[in-house]
Amino acid sequence: MSEYWWGRSASEISEYVKNKEISPVEVVQSFLDRIQQVDTKIDAFTQIWSDYALQQARSLEEKIVKGKSPVGPLAGVPVSIKEVICTQRGFTTCASKILAGYRSPYDATVVERLLNADAILIGKVNMDEFAMGSSTENSSIKLTRNPWNLECVPGGSSGGSAASVSAEECVISLGSDTGGSVRQPASFCGCVGLKPTYGRVSRYGLVAFASSLDQIGPLSKNVMDSATTLSVIGGRDPRDTTSVDMPLPDYSERIRKNVDTISMRIGLPKEYFTEDLNEEVKELIMKAVRILEKQGAEIVEVSLPHTEFAVATYYIICTAEASANLARFDGVRYGFRHVDSKNIIEMYKCTRSEGFGPEVQRRILLGTYVLSSGYYDAYYLKAQKVRKLITQDFEEAFQKCDVIVGPTSPTPAFRFGEKTQNPLEMYLSDIYTISVNLSALPAISVPCGLTQSGLPVGLQFIGKHFDEEYLLTVAYLYEINRGQEFGNPPLE
Ligand code: GLN
Repeated sequence: MSEYWWGRSASEISEYVKNKEISPVEVVQSFLDRIQQVDTKIDAFTQIWSDYALQQARSLEEKIVKGKSPVGPLAGVPVSIKEVICTQRGFTTCASKILAGYRSPYDATVVERLLNADAILIGKVNMDEFAMGSSTENSSIKLTRNPWNLECVPGGSSGGSAASVSAEECVISLGSDTGGSVRQPASFCGCVGLKPTYGRVSRYGLVAFASSLDQIGPLSKNVMDSATTLSVIGGRDPRDTTSVDMPLPDYSERIRKNVDTISMRIGLPKEYFTEDLNEEVKELIMKAVRILEKQGAEIVEVSLPHTEFAVATYYIICTAEASANLARFDGVRYGFRHVDSKNIIEMYKCTRSEGFGPEVQRRILLGTYVLSSGYYDAYYLKAQKVRKLITQDFEEAFQKCDVIVGPTSPTPAFRFGEKTQNPLEMYLSDIYTISVNLSALPAISVPCGLTQSGLPVGLQFIGKHFDEEYLLTVAYLYEINRGQEFGNPPLE
């Protein structure tokens, strides 16, 4: 019987593969078996690329046997990709009816870079339509379940990414984070989720939701694997002018080097520990803070006074940008088109009314409203000013501390249907993640324990611009001293 490879980390798998101790074909086959075994319960995958994955594994094996060209840092590591990231293979649907059957003519830069690093693309995963949502319930394809409790949502919008990693159907997944969509599902599903600094990772080939906030980030079982993935996907890309030309370290090497000597001043924002924070979540966060204190961290209180305006600000800016970005889906150029319309205006109307789900329509309408003449100054311009104040809050806080720590989400995973009737309640659950996107900062969610009812909770670390090296080192230091393993979701 072949060994199971699905419990292993990316660094372990790639080492074994590079050293010819295991064939990448065997690794991939064992993950495909795992998907067969559990995805009927989880429904994380929208496309499973069995033949393609095995074909990639066979070419990698050949390359290793020949021993001529260097082998990449993710050799043989199975990766899943969120439906919003363009892949030439298969479909790129954004989990929307309007893009059903859409094939991208090119690979996103991050996908190209994964392939160059010898990762194995195993398939694509579910999400909220156009990445708008916090539970993956807005997918037009299907519901994805939380591996820790099948009655609960996996979080969103990268719910399929988080669930696929948590259920060990792949080792790494790429998600996108506009207001928390990598970190919040990571927190709900008990995995690590990293949102890099805006500009660290190319957005070329990421279907745009809110262009000034969107950033692609990895989800994995541990900090080191996310660090390795960032070194692979990050760095300047001439095809995305907002990607920056800054040195991109080998993060996993830097973490190992720095972890023993790192000094930490940890800021706890007083606005993050109010009565809106679930008691059990608060206890687990404070337990984690004490672990960091034991490791020599100095704990200081900081203030982010404009936090209360973050949700309103985010939902003005992201909807404004979404209304512009989604104007291109008109039934002419991509995907779905309403057929028997009498004229072109009716064709646009029917295509967009039938092709977009209710949440996407709500956001397009909101965004169009806040940008319309007469309201632009009162809403959009005002929101931009508040965005600046939120960014300044962080700048001031970072005068007193090196990293900010707090919850990723105010609650653990909730049940299906619990928040779908009340969009405002769903929006309010983004309170701890969205300021980070508004301020372009990097942040990571790391599991810090389980609630009484066995649901994971995530601890969020927020770092300074482009200092992922420090952020990841602190997160790693916490992870190795957490002193408790939570095991795996009870799936068998
Ligand atoms: N939940 C937030 C929203 O609905 C964030 C989504 C995201 O980061 N893509 O907009």
